[in-house]
Amino acid sequence: MTIPSMLARPHEPPRADLSAERTALFLDLDGTLIDIAATAESVEVPRSLAGLLEDLSDALDGALAILTGRPIADVDRLLAPSRFVAAGIHGAEYRTSPDDGVRHAALPLADAFVARLKGLETRFPGVRVEDKGPTAAVHWRAAPTVADELEREVERLLEGAPDHLEIRHGRRVFEIVPRHVSKGAALEILSGLDRFAGRRPIMIGDDLTDETAMAAAERLGGVGFRVEGETFPAEVADFASPRQVRAWLSDFLRRVGR
Ligand SMILES: [Mg+2]
Repeated sequence: MTIPSMLARPHEPPRADLSAERTALFLDLDGTLIDIAATAESVEVPRSLAGLLEDLSDALDGALAILTGRPIADVDRLLAPSRFVAAGIHGAEYRTSPDDGVRHAALPLADAFVARLKGLETRFPGVRVEDKGPTAAVHWRAAPTVADELEREVERLLEGAPDHLEIRHGRRVFEIVPRHVSKGAALEILSGLDRFAGRRPIMIGDDLTDETAMAAAERLGGVGFRVEGETFPAEVADFASPRQVRAWLSDFLRRVGR
């Protein structure tokens, strides 16, 4: 079955031959399926999203995964009561089946290092440090003018930390992540599961941290699609908004759904 694109965009999703039997979907959450909000806690999840994802997962025999910077517990809360195969915290944790527990792929950051990061909240009002266990996020959405100085300070703190850690730039956030952990590595690891075997991965994301997963999808014979936003301008984006991604997914489901 083919999906003719309905999108009048310069980089619209190609008229790919997407079949239910040969497609796997890897989806970022924030900025891709739901709109970015001022804080991670204040996002609004469209009521129909969880049902759409469940129906898609069923139509693809389970070949659908959420790849997110959030902890998987957070994804479960936002999409409750639905649960999905997922890589959380940029691939620092996994759930390989919706009914399984969450497995960690990295150890938690040292308490002393997290405490030093937390100190940035006092020094830079508006900055918020989120301790995610194996990674940390330094959010500066509420303090955009301090971004450069904040980045230098985070780099300085990293010099005194174990050298397996690195900074990744996200949407108004510096993520501190173990080098071996990425959404790209997560997509490759999940693609090895039976449920994804023999399928062409489609990765949809809106951020720099998603590009490793798009590259991994392409290495595996699939494709990556970009959602317009603070990271990708309209000229390089395939979708204009999370709403358009959801409409495209609904259209895909209508064509392949059972
Ligand atoms: Mg995102």
